[in-house]
Amino acid sequence: MNHSKIKTGVYVCHCGTNIAGTVDVAAVAEFARGLAGVSIARDYTYMCSDPGQALIKQDIQENGLNRIVVASCSPLMHEPTFRRACAEAGLNPFFCQMANIREHCSWVVDDRTQATTKSCSLVAAAVRRVHHHVPLEMRQVEMNQSTLIVGAGIAGIETALKLAEAGKQVYLVERESSIGGHMAQLYKTFPTLDCAA
Ligand code: SF4
Repeated sequence: MNHSKIKTGVYVCHCGTNIAGTVDVAAVAEFARGLAGVSIARDYTYMCSDPGQALIKQDIQENGLNRIVVASCSPLMHEPTFRRACAEAGLNPFFCQMANIREHCSWVVDDRTQATTKSCSLVAAAVRRVHHHVPLEMRQVEMNQSTLIVGAGIAGIETALKLAEAGKQVYLVERESSIGGHMAQLYKTFPTLDCAA
């Protein structure tokens, strides 16, 4: 895609001192301003807070941003938050990309310069990546929720029971003539000395 059409906003989160205590967040934002396709780069104390999200929404609406990069924590934690913020501002939520500079930088790198350099690299990668994103639409499809579990060892049995308790149909297959796997071959188990079978 032609970079002249890309308008990316980069948001570098302090997470209080969780990130800012180790990473020079202002320097990361300054670095991001020099990247191709980046229109705005800011650092902010708590990006997932309501004012943090409002900042992103306002920039999308007032500056026509069409890509968002949030450099903060793991996407497991807040990707839905920032995707939702983008959607609320009228931007396809899949034009949002996170760079994990907390778990992957400030929490694991002691040296401030190294943590900052690594954060810059992750932000640069996220900016490059999000340029290539395409708008996706969520849809719901009918699916067969029955589950086939191959192997009736302790893990297979436990999984089958959990799924069955959740009301799912389970097919548990085992190539041997009996179930239980290695566990069933043991005499007793430590520390309770229960019969393994
Ligand atoms: S977005 Fe993540 S890194 Fe930033 S303040 Fe919230 S929890 Fe912390």
